[in-house]
Amino acid sequence: MKQENEKYCVECGEVIKINAEICPKCGVRQPYIQTAESEQQKEAQNKWLTTLLLCWFLGVFGVHRFYTGHTAIGVIQLLTLGGCGIWYLVDLIIIAIGNYKDADGNPITNNK
Ligand SMILES: [Zn+2]
Repeated sequence: MKQENEKYCVECGEVIKINAEICPKCGVRQPYIQTAESEQQKEAQNKWLTTLLLCWFLGVFGVHRFYTGHTAIGVIQLLTLGGCGIWYLVDLIIIAIGNYKDADGNPITNNK
């Protein structure tokens, strides 16, 4: 039986790794199957881009903080206009380099 990280070769039916592009047994190239993992990656990348754009355009209002669940910090940034225009710039850099985390501690990054 195949494991969760395995699939059947489309040509010979051999159990191969789910990420395998070519079957090691018969050498036939496997069709690309979009896994749940790559869907999540896409979602994560979209979230990262959204956060970055929100910070870029609306960072002085703390909108990126609200978007990522940091409501309390968002309110503070809203009241201080993005921490006097400095705090949100720091956030922007942190988001851009992929070190930003949402309120649940999930990294918001565009890393593949
Ligand atoms: Zn095969």
